[in-house]
Amino acid sequence: MLKIGCHLSISKGFLAMGKLADSIGANTFQFFSRNPRGGAAFKRDPQDTQNYQDFAALKNFAPCLAHAPYTVNPCSADLRIRGFAVKAVSDDLDRYDCMYVMHPGNHVGQGTEAGISLIAGMLEKALEHAQGFILLETMAGKGTEIGSRFEELGEIIKRAGSSEKLGVCLDTCHVFDAGYDIAGDLDGVLERFDKAIGFERLHAVHLNDSKNALGSHKDRHEKLGEGFIGWDAIARIVNHPVLRELPFFLETPNDTEGYGREVEGVKARRS
Ligand code: FE
Ligand code: FE
Ligand code: ZN
Repeated sequence: MLKIGCHLSISKGFLAMGKLADSIGANTFQFFSRNPRGGAAFKRDPQDTQNYQDFAALKNFAPCLAHAPYTVNPCSADLRIRGFAVKAVSDDLDRYDCMYVMHPGNHVGQGTEAGISLIAGMLEKALEHAQGFILLETMAGKGTEIGSRFEELGEIIKRAGSSEKLGVCLDTCHVFDAGYDIAGDLDGVLERFDKAIGFERLHAVHLNDSKNALGSHKDRHEKLGEGFIGWDAIARIVNHPVLRELPFFLETPNDTEGYGREVEGVKARRS
């Protein structure tokens, strides 16, 4: 079964997101766990949660995905910001019983090595008591972002004790921007992923086209088929045996109708 959805706003609650996803032919969605640029938590209404769960069961939805706010930076040079990262992620894991994706972090000049060990330490702490499951996102390599090399993500997971609760979300725009040619050599890129991280850790895909050419480290998402990745490559991605059963989440610059057209476009290309 194709699992596909897009990024939605949580402001009207879970049932509203479920209904919106369903109205565009999607069967899952992603949302920010908190205000993405601030960090204030969304207050969950138990009745809304129950209503959503009933709706999701009825519609045979795939599990949804919570995205951490951008203000979570476990390898900040500022102790308070690192403290917020542990607290926000632990709280989020307790609050949402779904997969949780976060950007590994920005080392802000401290260097990749120092960043990796800070991130690993934070993950160990956050996972100590929490129930949830954390996915690290593959990054474009903008500024001092960690996680644009598969080896960096593999190393973070290893140093965090190779916890079963850790996985990876592959962002197609980001990996392309990081220099992995998923348009020209998808098999080769996936092989490198498997070697550095392992396919068993891959649990979700952010399906985006890119406004910029291979290796440009810019992180500008484009609508599917309108960027440098293109529909042919996207068709190969959504049909690849390693990827096709994973949930695909669109984070393209779109309104609801635009997302609907992309969902249709992906469905039309599934073989
Ligand atoms: Fe992200
Ligand atoms: Fe993403
Ligand atoms: Zn991005």
